[in-house]
Amino acid sequence: MTKLDDSSKTTAKPAAKLIGQQNNKLNPMLQHSKVNQQANPTLDPESYSIDDPATSGYSRPKPRGADFTHGVALYLENVSVWFDAFRALNDLSLYIETGELRCIIGPNGAGKTTLMDVITGKTRPTEGSVFFGQSHNLANMSTEEIAEAGIGRKFQKPTVFENFTVMDNLLLAAPSNKRVSNSLFSRLSADAKNTLESTIEQIRLRDMVNKPAGLLSHGQKQWLEIGMLLMQQPKLILLDEPVAGMTDAETEHTAELCLELKKNHTLVVVEHDMTFIDAISEKVTVLANGAILAEGTLAEVQANEDVIETYLGR
Ligand code: ADP
Ligand code: MG
Repeated sequence: MTKLDDSSKTTAKPAAKLIGQQNNKLNPMLQHSKVNQQANPTLDPESYSIDDPATSGYSRPKPRGADFTHGVALYLENVSVWFDAFRALNDLSLYIETGELRCIIGPNGAGKTTLMDVITGKTRPTEGSVFFGQSHNLANMSTEEIAEAGIGRKFQKPTVFENFTVMDNLLLAAPSNKRVSNSLFSRLSADAKNTLESTIEQIRLRDMVNKPAGLLSHGQKQWLEIGMLLMQQPKLILLDEPVAGMTDAETEHTAELCLELKKNHTLVVVEHDMTFIDAISEKVTVLANGAILAEGTLAEVQANEDVIETYLGR
């Protein structure tokens, strides 16, 4: 068995390559602190909007959209999460490029869900920083603000409204515009109507749109929930064990769906199902004890002695 020490060493490579120690301009943390140090930071009117002073007082300028100009969607730097005396994430640094589909695998208790909790603001890092693009310091944002900024997450258990139709579940998930109207559908912007159409196709629930969601199979409920996420037009999608409990056919469709979503979104997918990972993966990160054990293609990490020892078994 080849020992792939190299692949563990390369975990730091994206950081060095993307952030560049000589090029501080690329590091949002440094960029951010630089802005804070300026008495009168010059704000780019293209990327900032000033809140209406009538409603928000002298509020801080709000970043309008995530800034992916450096090609990185997500930066986690030296993140640790302590739960009392237990460290669930251990000095973790992870960089997800824009448009990437990153798979995260690892034994139970490795910290995979905690990682997603940190990205979505559900859990705050004890140490370290988390940035979405260049401008969004997730540590300063509420879970709602993080979702609005374009990070959508699907939990392991589907949480669809069982008594509502598939269509109504999707419509309820869409960002509403303020116009008063008597139907959920007519509230939608033209853009959201397009999203609705493409979402129904992608999640393959065209025949079920008028049926109560309670009638869907487990797999179909998972897809509906992915559809509900898509209605919010997220830029980064986090899927925690999306194929758990699915049939082989459902798993295969979910793989196709992920590859489809990759065309327009950045994805981070946590899974144990290696057939599924094999179908969708580019770069795979193996997490163990809250830290990165190995990173590379699935074949590379599967051949890594540490990964075999800690996760895959002999
Ligand atoms: P994974 O998703 O990789 O299975 P988790 O992120 O759920 O792992 O959990 C990592 C470790 O952190 C586990 O040992 C778990 O028991 C612990 N943990 C997670 N959340 C909490 C919490 N809120 N309080 C205390 N311990 C927690
Ligand atoms: Mg988990």
